[in-house]
Amino acid sequence: MEVIKGIKVIEGLNRGKFPYCNVVKVGKVVIDAGAGIDIMKKIRTNKLILSHLHPDHSSGAWLFKEILAPEGGKITLDSLANRFVTPDLVETWKKFVTAATGLRGFECERYEEGVIMEEPEIIAIPIKGHTADHHVFLIEQKVLFGGDVDLTPFGPFYGNPEADPYLFEKEIDKLLNFDFEVFVSAHSKPIFGKEEAVSKIVKFKNKIKEREDKILALLEEPKSIDEIVELSPIYGKKPYAKEMLDFFEKVMVEKHIKKLEREGKVREENGKYVKA
Ligand SMILES: [Zn+2]
Repeated sequence: MEVIKGIKVIEGLNRGKFPYCNVVKVGKVVIDAGAGIDIMKKIRTNKLILSHLHPDHSSGAWLFKEILAPEGGKITLDSLANRFVTPDLVETWKKFVTAATGLRGFECERYEEGVIMEEPEIIAIPIKGHTADHHVFLIEQKVLFGGDVDLTPFGPFYGNPEADPYLFEKEIDKLLNFDFEVFVSAHSKPIFGKEEAVSKIVKFKNKIKEREDKILALLEEPKSIDEIVELSPIYGKKPYAKEMLDFFEKVMVEKHIKKLEREGKVREENGKYVKA
């Protein structure tokens, strides 16, 4: 799909939904590598740029020679697993991502915030909170590739220990001030005009507060973190990899509860949390 002249979006498997993503091809550069291994093999060029190291964006990176990423050096399944889950889930995580996405280890060079390529012009802008290394890209001053500010109805993901929903909330706001014509999403319908993108960005960001309110409402009666996760205020359904999705939901719930506790809206009582 041509976004504007010279910039194409290639839709990932399963319409780019997790564990795949939509990728962008601009000139001889590909941005993100999670469209599915067979698709990535077809669009392979020498040069790849990664928005961040989540497997649904980096799974096909091993097919490329030259990789620019927010982190440099050797990236292995183990280094990623240890970053994204707790030690007890490392093997489960590795099994799931290799089977689901075809991820393998790869080596990359680090890029810094700002212009990372001049021809075509690609500017890397950190939007933290989703992960510590998440970036969006402004391409040729016209196209904004939003990475995991993906505008899906699910909303923002912050299920890794390093994530921070409230930082993500602030960072997402930055996108509203950018000058762009077209927005490209990594996981939904790929292309949005500016006006639609702006309203969807606001909706997407508001999900964080909606989840907080939902969790607070559950705490009219005392509940442990596990009891909240069982009620699943964030995912609702977990049709696959339940153990891992439960972990992600637990991390997300804990981050909300910590903040509510700091604000005095929730207090802990005998290992359970209750509205103050
Ligand atoms: Zn991600």
